[in-house]
Amino acid sequence: MNTESILYTLVPHDLAGHRLRVTLRIADPDPQGQQLALPAWIPGSYLIRDFARQVETISARCNDRVVGIRKTGNHSWRCEPCDGPLIVEYVVYAWDLSVRSAHVDETHAFFNGTSVFLAPLGKEQEPCHLLLEAPPGITDWKVYTSLPEAAGHPQVASRHGFGMYRAPDYDALIDHPVEMGTPQVISFEAAGALHEMVFTGVVPNLDLERIAEDTRRLCEAQIAFFEPESQAAPFLDSSDRYVFMTMVVGDGYGGLEHRSSTALMCSRADLPSTGRRETGEGYENFLGLVSHEYFHTWNVKRIKPAAFAPYDLSRENHTELLWVFEGFTSYYDDLFLLRAGLIDEAAYLRRLARSITLVHRGAGRLKQSVAESSFDAWTRFYKQDENSPNAIVSYYTKGSLVAAGLDLAIRNATQNERSLDDVLRLMWQRYGRDFYRGKPQGLDEAEMPRLIEEATGFKADGYLERYAYGCEDVPLAELLEPQGIALSWNAPKTDAGLDARLRYSEGQCSIASVHEGGVAHKAGLSAGDVIIAIEGLRVHDEKSLQNLLSRWQPGATVTVHVFRRDELRSFQLTLAEPALTECQLQRVQPADRSLQNHKDKQSGRNKQDG
Ligand SMILES: [Zn+2]
Repeated sequence: MNTESILYTLVPHDLAGHRLRVTLRIADPDPQGQQLALPAWIPGSYLIRDFARQVETISARCNDRVVGIRKTGNHSWRCEPCDGPLIVEYVVYAWDLSVRSAHVDETHAFFNGTSVFLAPLGKEQEPCHLLLEAPPGITDWKVYTSLPEAAGHPQVASRHGFGMYRAPDYDALIDHPVEMGTPQVISFEAAGALHEMVFTGVVPNLDLERIAEDTRRLCEAQIAFFEPESQAAPFLDSSDRYVFMTMVVGDGYGGLEHRSSTALMCSRADLPSTGRRETGEGYENFLGLVSHEYFHTWNVKRIKPAAFAPYDLSRENHTELLWVFEGFTSYYDDLFLLRAGLIDEAAYLRRLARSITLVHRGAGRLKQSVAESSFDAWTRFYKQDENSPNAIVSYYTKGSLVAAGLDLAIRNATQNERSLDDVLRLMWQRYGRDFYRGKPQGLDEAEMPRLIEEATGFKADGYLERYAYGCEDVPLAELLEPQGIALSWNAPKTDAGLDARLRYSEGQCSIASVHEGGVAHKAGLSAGDVIIAIEGLRVHDEKSLQNLLSRWQPGATVTVHVFRRDELRSFQLTLAEPALTECQLQRVQPADRSLQNHKDKQSGRNKQDG
């Protein structure tokens, strides 16, 4: 029976204690002593996370004899030599409610392979089997994953069942997260391919049908975008299905992409309930997240930077190109809400304007380029502090503006004959389509200008030099004008005028961060200060602060009393005219639908599906 060369058996054996037990059986271990390692990070989230610190106990044996096993690094072990089969048994603590690791309790189990599967070093290319076992005493849980069942194996799992699954190699094994439990589930077909949506967490009256229909439109629009001829879904090289696994919580937002699935986290209030048709901005944000992670199925899971082909999971993998993989994806996520007919152009322009506002509020954009931000993701973007808005720029948000500007520049230069769409399709054909079909090659760091010119004829060197590799603001007003859209700047309506980000909680107003060059900075106020009074009058919430400050005109100087740590201090703050920091976009000339798609086939069809 035990003919598998590498077999993992996983059981969430202690739900109350949040523990998973994994048994790894290696038929033919390294005769020098098998080495094992757990990834230091999870692809898509660029921070060393040391998942190995959650391994509580580990032991090894061979033919009923104990085999010594010792730690050789933060995330690596070595077993004493043995003939095999080598059996390694370990327990992982799983109590991190995030899309990045593992979480187990009486209601469900969710895990990423990066948190639970030790890699047998030197054997990463070999096929792996995974036997999933139900927790002791649990009979009603099902299994949701894009990992294929081990067809033909005597213990093969039935669809959504416990049993045997299979991956062609270790890289695939850890790229199909697994959800177990009794979630709310709906499935649909898009472009003839099966998609499943799994919602874990308590959500009364969840309108599954509506979510499935909106998601189906998004998926079809994206599939038609990358494969206008064949309409082939990208994930069929790895699985016969795509799985959206969503953890619903009171307050949360995020996602992580995989080759044939995605793990999402969202707020309950963002999801629609049955019998209500109105769409809030929260639901738009949820669909934007779905759109973003699904777009990654092409862009970053198959079209990758050379630095990720393959990943080195033992250390940081540096690339200057995250503005392409996250920035372009962030540009297209909202654009596909428009192209799939889920929002109208006015709503789309509001979302784009919000990104522009966000980028322009941070002085860090003038100090760090999106290429530098990409490279430093590991130590800066993923390790933000109170000064981050002044010191760094987001390769997501500014990256999306670099994409928007580039799209517009190409459209303007080619009379809307060409666009960024052509660049993405060329990247897909050259690098993505066959990535898991034996051509695992990634983009060189300096390749973007060449690709853009080949796809569109547009020479992008100068543009990229200034806006992606330099710190200049993308001149969006200028680039949007030929497309009939006007950009203007307004003073934000809800802003106390301190040029600081404030945090209000439990009757206290504290400063989260101070904008460089603003009035709070000039007065000497700092992040962490608790504002207790203005001119001797108590401040306890947003309203009291705004009411007080509005009693003085710009130019007036007021005394601000704060606690810095436990010391009472006073600062002289000179009020300023409200800064024009809020971007607004408005269509001023009729649309030629160029923002939608210059070919415009896909969006037209989807609208009729309605
Ligand atoms: Zn992303």
